[in-house]
Amino acid sequence: MTNKLIKGLVATAVLAALAGCNSSDDDTPLTACEAAGDACTRFTVIHTNDNHGRFWQNSDGEYGMAARKTVIDQIRSEVERSGGETMLLSGGDINTGVPESDMQNAVPDFMGMSILGYDAMAVGNHEFDNPLSTLDMQATIAQFPMLAANIYKKDPNTEQVTDERYFEPYRVFDINGLQIAIIGFTTVDTPKVVSPGNVASLHFTDPQDEIHKVLAEIEANETVDMVFALTHMGHYADGKHGTEAPGDVMLARTLEQGQLQAIIGGHSQNPVCMEGDEYADFTPGDACKPDIQNGTFIMQAHEWGKYVGRADFEYLDGALTLASYKLIPINLKDDEGNFYTQEIEQDQIVIDALQHYQQAGQELLDVVISSTDGKLEGDRDRVRSEQTNLGQLLTRAYGDWVTANFEPTVDFGVMNSGGIRASIAPGDISYRDVLTVQPFGNDVAYVTMSGTEVQAYLANVAQKTGGGMPQLYPMEMIVHCDAVDINPDATPVDIVDIQSLGSRDFNLESEYTFSLINFSASGGDDYPVITGHDNYIDTQRSDASVLREYFESNPSIKVAEYAPGDGGHPVFMRGGDIVNSCAK
Ligand SMILES: [Zn+2]
Repeated sequence: MTNKLIKGLVATAVLAALAGCNSSDDDTPLTACEAAGDACTRFTVIHTNDNHGRFWQNSDGEYGMAARKTVIDQIRSEVERSGGETMLLSGGDINTGVPESDMQNAVPDFMGMSILGYDAMAVGNHEFDNPLSTLDMQATIAQFPMLAANIYKKDPNTEQVTDERYFEPYRVFDINGLQIAIIGFTTVDTPKVVSPGNVASLHFTDPQDEIHKVLAEIEANETVDMVFALTHMGHYADGKHGTEAPGDVMLARTLEQGQLQAIIGGHSQNPVCMEGDEYADFTPGDACKPDIQNGTFIMQAHEWGKYVGRADFEYLDGALTLASYKLIPINLKDDEGNFYTQEIEQDQIVIDALQHYQQAGQELLDVVISSTDGKLEGDRDRVRSEQTNLGQLLTRAYGDWVTANFEPTVDFGVMNSGGIRASIAPGDISYRDVLTVQPFGNDVAYVTMSGTEVQAYLANVAQKTGGGMPQLYPMEMIVHCDAVDINPDATPVDIVDIQSLGSRDFNLESEYTFSLINFSASGGDDYPVITGHDNYIDTQRSDASVLREYFESNPSIKVAEYAPGDGGHPVFMRGGDIVNSCAK
């Protein structure tokens, strides 16, 4: 019922300010260009975002670049026939998410985007999941610019921020005779959510400040008809961005009306289809009304190439109108396995170009390395709010591996739950499963600390919520989540009462060794930075390769042995009650 209402609202909102009626159909108002004739300029922006390694369709035949190309080509020929021109934009995060892509450094994804004819992309935070040299390599494959105005180089000698940007800040495109400047922005959260070493030579500025600077540069150096932003900052309804950095809505609101005509975004991975200031109840095939904030259109096409966004713009007498907007589902299926909309044929050129990457990936990944008699729980909602068997298994795998390969015996393990990206289903386990759980290629690390340091460290991380919520193994410890609420002056050391660590008693004077990944050790997910600690060691071995080794030496996993209730686990207390975590 809600959807019908939305469809009605979209028709009026998008086609409202229109003069006259179409003679052949009195119910359909004319668009600006239909009313004005030749004086009007038509152009269409086609957009996707958050590809995350989905160059190939999934096992159900959904999305994939080959079907995406078919739809894009159809739009292009349709628009050209009506006297318009198109441009194809990506809101970034091409990297990370599918093992076949990850193992090949997203080469097939950037090749595919070049074949599809992307005109530009925003640089996403996941572009920094690999060392900068990998991103530089990807930039040589991409036949289009990577745009980011708010990423600056640091001087390698002094570490000082320079005024030199790492990427092109904007590019001016001629589209059907109009000069449109497209500015790129990357979320300022990036240094918090990638392995800090990958961005150590870069400085990220706040897009809400940077945009004034770039607009002044465009004003000084270019003659343009309008300015768009291509962003990877996230869309948050009514600008309520919570603990995330401010996104597209706040960017639009920071400007004078008319300074920025549209934002094509990514990062929050939602279909931006609005009903007032709230998200509409959207299912594939529904009408979609993009956001408009302070006169700026804001659009985002969910994620993974599930949709191709199509925005048909019309420009007349200095005014931009949106004649129509659609999120076109790319072979998405409902729960019964039926297509939401008519099946789209895959483009053969794309298949021919990418098939051998898909096959190479399959061969590497399909080898069975272990099996499990039950689900290993890594679902985002669960793993970020409670201890799970997969969290226990991961911390145990890393700890055991460090103990087996290095001098000290590991007393416990800490794993930020934001680094656990998927569950493992009962049955065979392949390297594919391993890489789906741990796609980031972080290193296993360990550190030896005094009891006093350990207590302060755990007091800090035990209170983290969301992706910072720690999976901890094996230990008995009581975390008083509300200690700071009750007494704002409470020191972290007052908050945690560690009773024992593994088989050892805990006291402040003894030394303890724990394992973790280098991502959190270097401050990722807002963990305390411990890479400078005298006894910190980065083993330079990837988390996924260690986990793979663990499964290979444990060929039949029994989930009961990893139940969080066994082998010691932290107890979180709030208001006298035992809770799952310190998350409120
Ligand atoms: Zn992102």
